[in-house]
Amino acid sequence: MIFPTEAAYRAYLQEVRDFLWQEIDPLVPQIERDEFIPFDQLRPQFRQHHLFDCLVPEAYGGLGLSTMQYAPVLKEIAKVHGGLRAMLHVHHSSVHLMETGRPEQRQRYLPRMATGDLLVCFGLTEPDSGSGLDSQSHAVRQGDVYRLTGRKHLITNAREADLFAVFCFTADATRGTREFSVLLVERGMPGFTIEPMAHTMGCVGASHDLLHFDQVPVPLDNVLGREGLGLQQQMAFLEISRVFIAVAALGTAERALELALAWAKQRVTFGRPIAERQAVQGYLAEMATDVYALRHITLDALRKYDAGQRIPEESSMCKLFAMEAVGRVTDKALLVHGGLGYLKSSRIEMLYRDARLNWLEEGTPTIHKLIIARTLLEEECALFGRGTELL
Ligand SMILES: Cc1cc2nc3c(=O)[nH]c(=O)nc-3n(C[C@H](O)[C@H](O)[C@H](O)COP(=O)(O)OP(=O)(O)OC[C@H]3O[C@@H](n4cnc5c(N)ncnc54)[C@H](O)[C@@H]3O)c2cc1C
Repeated sequence: MIFPTEAAYRAYLQEVRDFLWQEIDPLVPQIERDEFIPFDQLRPQFRQHHLFDCLVPEAYGGLGLSTMQYAPVLKEIAKVHGGLRAMLHVHHSSVHLMETGRPEQRQRYLPRMATGDLLVCFGLTEPDSGSGLDSQSHAVRQGDVYRLTGRKHLITNAREADLFAVFCFTADATRGTREFSVLLVERGMPGFTIEPMAHTMGCVGASHDLLHFDQVPVPLDNVLGREGLGLQQQMAFLEISRVFIAVAALGTAERALELALAWAKQRVTFGRPIAERQAVQGYLAEMATDVYALRHITLDALRKYDAGQRIPEESSMCKLFAMEAVGRVTDKALLVHGGLGYLKSSRIEMLYRDARLNWLEEGTPTIHKLIIARTLLEEECALFGRGTELL
């Protein structure tokens, strides 16, 4: 870890917070109005404040933060702006994905990801099928290339990225194999086109585009890691990435609670601040309880992950609880604000929309319930062995 002391780490956190609130927060109304994040303009500042290299290991020029150390950074970004959070979330999760590459691939890509000169995005979701093993995207080996055909949509950072990690089937007729793999497709490869998609409800300003692959010749060398590892790589990076989404939801929920508290003290009806009304206090108490619970399940998952444990169940539980909790908290924050909260000029209106992306990205509630129930029913759920006897 690059920070020699706890004080040095805390100073870094403070610097990031100051940057986000002093330099980025004033840009939020413009980003919301234009539905555009001026990424090229912001890139040098993000680099200066270590917003690209948090999770890149020190050996590749990054800060090499643990996930527990990174979480407060991500949470603060989510408090300021959801679109920016979505962009940086995909960048940091892609670092985890690229770490599953071969040593020379890590050496080639991670140092440039650390400086923000290289953005990588990941393509799982497809318009014509489900994700993972339901993928219709396929690449057939012809000589020293794979010919990739298929479509991926809703791919965050497609406008800015130079490298696209595409989950697909790779087939080799001479060997008679068909494997699920990740291919690294470079912007500009023949037959690869990117089509912008419509603007989003919340987390605005980031790009989420449609990728078309028409017989794209991808060199064999561009298989991330090796052929057949795709499912393992998907599970490995999503396991931690989904906890990061829970951390982002925590940021949105905390900010909504802070704003609701401030507003409840300020707004006077019938001669008294609404904060003195029991009904409003009820909303605030329920919001704070959700925030507290969300903070602690994510902390538990991150602590275990940093200690080297696998956390597949915790990851889905964090994601499931987070999307429901942030939904409840932003609902109540809107109610505390009354009609003014519904106006575009209100930050609650923005947080309310930002929170809804947490339901969708990296798996809907249905999918996480399926994952959790499957572990409960098919295997002995590892969760019940880990320290639960103490509580
Ligand atoms: C702003 C934004 C950014 C995104 N960024 C990325 C990105 O960078 N990379 C990427 O790969 N994807 C990205 N996504 C896609 C996102 O991960 C998916 O939208 C999400 O996982 C849901 O998948 P889907 O859209 O295919 O929904 P569908 O699979 O069409 O689901 C529709 C409904 O059916 C349910 N359903 C589907 N299959 C089943 C099943 N087998 N059993 C029970 N219920 C089922 C779902 O739970 C859901 O309620 C992004 C999405 C958005 C909105």
